[in-house]
Amino acid sequence: MNRTLLKNVKLFLIDIDGVVFKGNTLIENAEDAVNILQRNGVRTIFVTNNSTRSRNDLVHRLRAAGINVDSEDILTTAYCATQYVLALGLETTYIIGEKGLFEEFMAAGLTIVSENFERCDAVVVGMDRNYNYRKLSTAFKFIQSNAKFIATNTDATLPTERGEIPGAGAMVSSLEGCTQKKPIVIGKPNTYLMKLALERAKLPVKDCVVVGDRPETDIAMARKGGCLGIIVLTGVTNKKRRNEYPIHQKPDLIYSSLLELSKEYEKHR
Ligand SMILES: [Mg+2]
Repeated sequence: MNRTLLKNVKLFLIDIDGVVFKGNTLIENAEDAVNILQRNGVRTIFVTNNSTRSRNDLVHRLRAAGINVDSEDILTTAYCATQYVLALGLETTYIIGEKGLFEEFMAAGLTIVSENFERCDAVVVGMDRNYNYRKLSTAFKFIQSNAKFIATNTDATLPTERGEIPGAGAMVSSLEGCTQKKPIVIGKPNTYLMKLALERAKLPVKDCVVVGDRPETDIAMARKGGCLGIIVLTGVTNKKRRNEYPIHQKPDLIYSSLLELSKEYEKHR
């Protein structure tokens, strides 16, 4: 793939974990990298499968790191799940998740029901470090009474500074196991985040590139959506093993970091 193809890109969809932050730590020079892209007139939208933080939390963290961003420039699976529920005209939801997921549903004006209700329109499941049998039983009851089963994402694990921990996929699989139903999945590798980003930026898919650290989610979404997919080696992928991936996860380009990619982009402007 010819690197000069980068010059036509007008929208960078930048994964957060493993590209900008590692856990709570800013990846070296990530703020410079984003600043280079922005001063060259590129729209940057940050995307994440992680549903535990609200967009407001992320705005604060990114701004504190020196990155110029508004909540309009951030698409989390928590926020995108609200957009999905609203688009279907659903109103009452039962949520398994953490603070960020609850905050987004409240901000969207959706009603969050408790276990005492008989039924609701949708069950939304994200990562929940206080998950238990009672929540599983409640979600099971609602899904059995025809609530839509929506997963923020199905990531098996979440990388932290202290190693990997079970991700949203663990909660989602337990519900799949008892309901024998498959959820609608909002997050990567599905293209719903990308679709919302393109609508927001009012740009066609050919102007877009996805930058991430995980071929099976970030690049798979780029492939499905039909745009360039770039891997940076600051996250879970740490060596240039482009040819080791199946075709639907194969990155077009690989850079050591977002900074190296930004500099290359600037050179081809
Ligand atoms: Mg990542």
